[in-house]
Parts: sequence; structure tokens; C-alpha cells
Amino acid sequence: MKTLGNFVDNDIHLPSEGRKGPIFNPALGKQQGEVFLSNQEETQKAIESSYQALSTWTATPPLKRARILFKFKELLEKNKNRLAEFITHEHGKVLSDAQGELTRGIEVVEFACGIPHLLKGEHSSNVGTGVDSYSLMKPVGVCVGITPFNFPAMVPMWMFPIALACGNTFILKPSEKDPSVSLEIAHLLKEAGLPKGVFNIVNGDKEAVDTLLTDQRVQAVSFVGSTPIAEYIYQKSGHYGKRVQALGGAKNHMIVMPDADLDQAVAGLMGAAYGSAGERCMAISAVIAVGEIGDKLIEKLRPKIEALKIGPGLDKEFNPDMGPLISNQHREKVKNYIDLGIKEGAKLVCDGRNYSCKGYEGGYFLGGSLFDHVKEGMKVHHEEIFGPVLVVLRASTYEDAIQIINNHEFGNGTAIFTRDGDCARQFTEDVEVGMVGINVPIPVPMAFHSFGGWKRSLFGPLHIHGQDGVRFYTKMKTITSRWPSGLKQKANFNMPTMK
Ligand code: NAD
Repeated sequence: MKTLGNFVDNDIHLPSEGRKGPIFNPALGKQQGEVFLSNQEETQKAIESSYQALSTWTATPPLKRARILFKFKELLEKNKNRLAEFITHEHGKVLSDAQGELTRGIEVVEFACGIPHLLKGEHSSNVGTGVDSYSLMKPVGVCVGITPFNFPAMVPMWMFPIALACGNTFILKPSEKDPSVSLEIAHLLKEAGLPKGVFNIVNGDKEAVDTLLTDQRVQAVSFVGSTPIAEYIYQKSGHYGKRVQALGGAKNHMIVMPDADLDQAVAGLMGAAYGSAGERCMAISAVIAVGEIGDKLIEKLRPKIEALKIGPGLDKEFNPDMGPLISNQHREKVKNYIDLGIKEGAKLVCDGRNYSCKGYEGGYFLGGSLFDHVKEGMKVHHEEIFGPVLVVLRASTYEDAIQIINNHEFGNGTAIFTRDGDCARQFTEDVEVGMVGINVPIPVPMAFHSFGGWKRSLFGPLHIHGQDGVRFYTKMKTITSRWPSGLKQKANFNMPTMK
């Protein structure tokens, strides 16, 4: 059984003693390793390393920093299949999905390679006689990323390539449930030529996180995870004077209008609701069927859900559509939501609770579940289930459907399926959600656009990656200079104005 530690100063550090957390293989339902849960002292070692590395990395020309990222991208591509297997082993998602996650992460590295262009400041000459004004984009300092289990490679890569390209040092605190792939990535950064201390990994839980949030040497915190923890991170980091962005949970709705191409909508829904066993922040977990289309939608969905191939993500012959859930505990939580939905009066059309995969009976598998006639206010609609459970609500009109989405506390992603251009455009105006799809079920913005939701899906002023990422990881300095310095100046006790 492997034991994982931290990655500090370009080397693995295994504490001699301390708390450890189990790492499972969810397809087998067996523990396959353990990870040290860093205490305050271990966490501080990583902080000190990042702090020591900061001045040299900050002074490294942006092009030289980008060259290391170019090399890193090459290594990621070369190692993509190997990294994807690490993800599938610990997370459970099917191999093609793990490869897709890496592709989306690599796109952020590609974006970061071009960051020297975005670090150019602005210059205005002669804002007053002989006076010029210009701005510089400076790194923020030691930055921290705290990431969730569901995208163990992509979400860290939303953060650190941009932070590093901007001249910051970075400490990653990955999810303790699937930490291996980030350690592999750290080795690739080292191989690409990243100096020691510029990228460190601290494995752990709340103790490590709290140490990072309260240490004066840490300047900025990026978080992605569930809403209660996002809110906690946002408040605590803010209290300790740090720059913070915290992305939270979701309940993403898809509206299916009566004129929609139903086959297209159903095909989109199958991937969006059940892909990665529903453990995606951009999963569609609620559908609003408008007008008469509800019955037809259910008719088309039911056989497809019943035919889902569910099994171990690494079994190429079986080639499943979706794998197991991350843990037995999480599977029980999802099952409890299905029990609750029945109690709340929703109609369970497909019941995945008793699914078991032949040959992998110990695995944390669940079949796809579908609820119909779900009403606003039911917990299965209000709360994030984060499993392969799709709920269908019925609405008489487009306006009622919009109201349901806008009443919801989350605002991460949403989609509409319609052939009506007017309606689609109106939807983009009306809906109070950050990422919007028109006949696109999972509208995840590309790396050069910023990613982030609204309402209780995001705490902080900026979204992640894209231009917002660059803004988050830099602070602007504006310089006003007068040349020649000997230009006659009179004493002036009023607000300065430029002449
Ligand atoms: P989580 O909130 O349980 O954990 C996220 C991180 O926070 C982990 O690194 C974990 O170790 C740490 N953490 C957990 N409890 C903590 C505590 N009490 N104090 C300090 N740190 C703590 O989330 P998860 O279960 O790993 O991931 C699933 C959640 O992430 C879902 O809610 C999903 O919607 C969300 N998510 C959101 C996005 C987005 O872009 N908005 C993307 C991916 C996942």
C-alpha cells in the first residue's frame, strides 16, 4: 500500500509520524493507499519554502517563466495516459473522461504560456506637462490553491499555471481523497525546470487548510469545493487580509422548450447528468420541461438511463459510460437523497439504488436515477446531490421555468434547448446564472475565458482562469513620473491636477 506525503523544494517529504487518511480504489471498494494529513508544522515548512523561492521567481523574466510552462505542457501531453490512469484509479471516473479532464487542464497551461502578453501594463504619456503615467502588473506573492476531489488534475490546473506564469509561487492543497495525480504533476513541473520551492504540495485536511489561511506569508487563496467550505474559506481568508476567490457548489438546470430537438436534448442530458457519475460542478442535475414536452422527455430518457453501462473506468473491454462514486459514504448520501425524494412525493422513474457491477460487487457503484414531478422546495431540488440523480420539474411557461432557476440559491451553470432564436437570446438576458448554454448542455468556458458562477456558487470578485485569473494573480502598480526632473514646480497644497 503506497503512502503519500508532501512535495516541498522539488522533493517528496514523508513525515516520520502523524495522522493519515485512506485512499480508496472506488471501483474495487478497497483501500489502496494512505496520505499524510499535514499538521501545522509540516504545512509551515511548505509555506517557508514558497516564501524563500518567491524573490528569485518573481525576478525571472516572464518569457523564461513561460518557457518552463511550454516544456511542462509537452510533458503533460507525453504523460497524459499515465496521469489519466492515476485519476481513474482514485476518483473512479472512466478513462476517457479522465483524459478529457487533462485536456481541459492543458488548455490552461497553453493560455498561461501566452501570459507575458497579458502582463504588459498600460502607458499614457504627457498626462500633464512632462508627466507620464504607466502601470505594472506585479505578482501577488505566495498563493495557495485548495481543490476538490472531482477534478483532481483540472481544477489545480485552473490555478497554478496562471499563478506561476504571473511570477507567484504556489502551494497546492489537493483533495485528500485522490491526491496522487497532483504529486505526479509536481514531478513533471520539476522535470520542466521549475526551480525548487516555486510549486509545493501540502496534503492534508482542515488543519493544513487553516494553517495556510492564517499564515502571514500567504497572500492569495483560490478555493474550489462545496459551498459551505467555500464560504468558510472566503470569510476566514478575508479576515486574515488575503485576496480570495472561492468557487462553490451547484444545481444546474436545463430548460427543455416544447420546440426543442428532443433527441439532441436527451443525448446532451445523458452525458451532462450521468457523466462522471454526476460528480461534476457543471453537471445538469435538474431539468425543467416546459409545456407538453415532459412526458415525451421522460419516455426517451428512461430506456437510455436503464441502458447505461456502469463499471470500472479502467476496463477497456467493458468500456463503461460511468464509473463508481468517490466513496461508500458519498454513495450512501446519494441513496439517502433518493429515499428522501420518494418521501417528498416525487415520482421515482428510474431507481439506481440497488445497482451492483458483476465482478466488482465491492465497488461504490450506483445506477442512474430519475425523478419526475419534482417541485420547488423539495430537498432533491434545492440541494446539491452530486451523484447520478436527475430531477425533472414541469413548468407551464418559459417565464415559470426562468423563475424556478432564478429562485435557486446556486447559479453556476445552466442550459436551454430550443430551436427558437428569440427565446434563446431572451434566456441569456433573463437567467441569473454565470455560465449559460444554448443547445449546449455543459457550457464550460475555454481557458482563455473566465470560469465562474453567480450567487452562492462563487464568493469573490473575480472568476477563475482567463483574464480574471491574470487579474487575480497580479496586483497593479501605477507610476506617475515627471521628466525632466528639474521642471519647475510650485508648492501646491490642493488636490494634485495635471497641467
Ligand atoms: P469539499 O468542499 O468537501 O472539499 C474541497 C477542499 O476543501 C478539499 O481540499 C478539502 O480537503 C477541503 N476541506 C474540506 N472540508 C474542510 C474544512 N472543514 N475546512 C477546511 N478545508 C476543508 O468539496 P469536495 O467534496 O471535494 O468537492 C465537491 C464539491 O466541489 C461540490 O460541491 C462541487 O459542486 C464543488 N465544485 C465546484 C466547482 C466550481 O467550479 N464551482 C468545481 C468543482 C467542484
